[in-house]
Amino acid sequence: MTRDHLTIVVAAYNEAESLPLLHPRLLAVMDALEADANLACRVLYVDDGSRDGTWAVMQQLAAADGRVALLRLSRNFGKELALTAGLDRVERGAALILDADGQDPPELIPEFVAKWREGYDDVHGTRLERDGEGWLKRATAHLFYRVIGRLSRTPIPADTGDFRLLSPRALAALQQLRERNRFMKGLFGWVGYNRFALPYHREARNAGQSKFNFWRLWNLALEGITSFTTAPLRLATYLGLLTALVAFCYGLWVVAKALLWGDPVTGWPSMMAVILFLGGVQLIALGVIGEYLGRLYDESKQRPLYLVDSWRPETGVSSEPS
Ligand code: UDP
Ligand code: MG
Repeated sequence: MTRDHLTIVVAAYNEAESLPLLHPRLLAVMDALEADANLACRVLYVDDGSRDGTWAVMQQLAAADGRVALLRLSRNFGKELALTAGLDRVERGAALILDADGQDPPELIPEFVAKWREGYDDVHGTRLERDGEGWLKRATAHLFYRVIGRLSRTPIPADTGDFRLLSPRALAALQQLRERNRFMKGLFGWVGYNRFALPYHREARNAGQSKFNFWRLWNLALEGITSFTTAPLRLATYLGLLTALVAFCYGLWVVAKALLWGDPVTGWPSMMAVILFLGGVQLIALGVIGEYLGRLYDESKQRPLYLVDSWRPETGVSSEPS
């Protein structure tokens, strides 16, 4: 009997310190899975254009174990595209996504696999607690998941990171989604199938710093909202309608006042206030349209999603049980 395959996809950007800490834990889990779950495992490290020694570290790890595959992108494309590149290289079996910094404990992988074997297609880890992250990051993340959950018709589970296992059919579906502005959490939700949320305790980073500062998180949030809902456009319409209504009533009042009591030249302050207010509303609405238009422009260029610098497949994963 041939074995099922599992690829653990790890996107890494400047993780030279973390990878050597993560790797032995991963190997131990892979050994256990091969023995207990009869799985053929490999790990695919994606170097997302790191500028520290990450690639050299990866090459050492690959030289030491035949189950390590390596992919290096031509530059830093960001986590979403690095994951896409990694998942594109999974041709058979299931895929599991793991952060390189040890925040998603690899020791939980057997539980993900067990759920997959029960017939779930998308097993995602839901964070119970988050260690080592400030209250501001936690609060804004909390708010973001609630907002996008309300706005989007695609189910996007709250407090769910990218720690997840995709069955072969869920993976095949995801590989068909080739949009450029990728908000992976939403794309996973779009795919659907049988989903299972596995609660886990998110640990602190084992080394180095988070690559997501507030600016990057803000952009990710914009990406998520514009990719999965057009609610802001509708909001602009309603805002416009509301201001038009108020402006109309105010206009009536101004005319009535002039007819009833004459028209001495006053009202400079109110005129300034109205002009500035309307200007502001118009600029906001234009900005919202611009966000969508810019993404449409990106999409229309039809560039490849990412470019590969080098690809080193694994050398020793056996489909036959030993
Ligand atoms: N990452 C990446 N490309 C980037 C930024 C991050 O591949 O441009 C990887 C990073 O190496 C890590 C994962 O994405 O494995 C999560 O990043 P990080 O830990 O910085 O994010 P956080 O856990 O703070 O949300
Ligand atoms: Mg992290």
